[in-house]
Amino acid sequence: MRKPIIAGNHKMNLLPSEGVKFIKELKKIIESQNNVEVIVFPPFTSINAMKQELEKSDIALGAQNIYYEQSGAFTGEVAANMVAELGCEWVLCGHSERREIFEESNKVVNLKIKATLKNDLSPMLCVGETLEQREAGKTEETLIDQVVGSLADLKENDLTELVVAYEPVWAIGTGKTATPEDAQTGVLYIRNRLSEMFGEEFAQSTRILYGGSVKPSNVKELMAQEDIDGALVGGASLKAESFAKLVKYNE
Ligand code: PEP
Repeated sequence: MRKPIIAGNHKMNLLPSEGVKFIKELKKIIESQNNVEVIVFPPFTSINAMKQELEKSDIALGAQNIYYEQSGAFTGEVAANMVAELGCEWVLCGHSERREIFEESNKVVNLKIKATLKNDLSPMLCVGETLEQREAGKTEETLIDQVVGSLADLKENDLTELVVAYEPVWAIGTGKTATPEDAQTGVLYIRNRLSEMFGEEFAQSTRILYGGSVKPSNVKELMAQEDIDGALVGGASLKAESFAKLVKYNE
């Protein structure tokens, strides 16, 4: 049984004070939530204050990014052990905005996943095709290339905490959600490749989320797909009220 995850990626939004307000409101609305795992990825600057507000709550925090070295002369970067000490449990690895804007390759994503694991944090690996790749019939090829490259040299025993998010780039922040069937197909490409790499048992127990313009009005039909185990949400995660509606998609 794969426990559903609803995760919010705040990107470069919300000041620390706004993040704290968000958590206060969210805690009130989803107090007794235990059939869904809830994760919030705030900007680095908000993690500490939000974590303090989360004492005794099941809502987990994650970092949107880390650098793969443990310490040293890397001005402006933040290491995995630093966010671990602040109480993060997750790290987002390979988000399409990192791949596109910051030119992160599969090799870099792979190093970040290794640093995440080394510090006992759970990686959430994002993969997804661009519109150009989809229109050229290269969706499956792209997803496989990203999954294989990002998880290179890792064994299934290293990856028990891995979660993958299928995020078609053309659906992120555009309001264009993939149809539930297209989302299911993309997720299945990923699950099949995980099975080839690490075995069927591993593939069946690994949670794979969908991300790309998920909102309260479409979450239910996406979550009804057999292989979709949750949602990674940008825009609709910024307000506690709409994020809570996603967390309560089943009510
Ligand atoms: C994201 O940033 O991972 C995302 C899915 O954004 P949005 O929900 O805004 O499309």
